[in-house]
Amino acid sequence: MKFPVFKKPAKLRIRTLGAKVLEEKALAVEIIDDEIRLLADMMIDSMGAAEGVGLAAPQVGVGIRLIVLGLPKQFSQGATDISPAEQMLLPKMPLCLVNPEISPVGRTTSISEEGCLSVPGIYAKVERPDRVMLSAQFLNGDSFSMECSGFLARAVQHEIDHLEGILFVDRLDKDERGRIGPELDKIKKGMAGNNG
Ligand SMILES: [Zn+2]
Repeated sequence: MKFPVFKKPAKLRIRTLGAKVLEEKALAVEIIDDEIRLLADMMIDSMGAAEGVGLAAPQVGVGIRLIVLGLPKQFSQGATDISPAEQMLLPKMPLCLVNPEISPVGRTTSISEEGCLSVPGIYAKVERPDRVMLSAQFLNGDSFSMECSGFLARAVQHEIDHLEGILFVDRLDKDERGRIGPELDKIKKGMAGNNG
């Protein structure tokens, strides 16, 4: 499979539910070059413009393992028991993570409402592990592996799901799925033809 080339458009277009690229597994980034750095910059701009807190490369049509996060900095203020990953990453927001990976830590989960720039207007409750071990590279090539909890843990799980071709609406229980099913169909129909 050919590595997806990023052809510098003036502005990125966020793909929505029904786009093929959102259902595919993304490829690892092997070399962090100017093209990757440019993509990351543009994704951070798009995320900010759309008032999102996270965006994964497949959402802008590029099937590679890269995410950007832009959690509000106040998440880190005043908290004394935040996880090592939150402590390190929250002050750096917005930031880009390359080839991020997670594995659950412990067995506790919680249910919380999520939304997604690729599923506009839909919010629904999703159950996820509370704590994960997060490993990733920064754009400068440095890598880390740290335990992550709080809202950041949920955000990275949501974004990394995108790299596996999974949307948060794929993780809903039957009740939530039933509740928003008709809305999802509407989005799929409305966006047909807008997802290349
Ligand atoms: Zn999303």
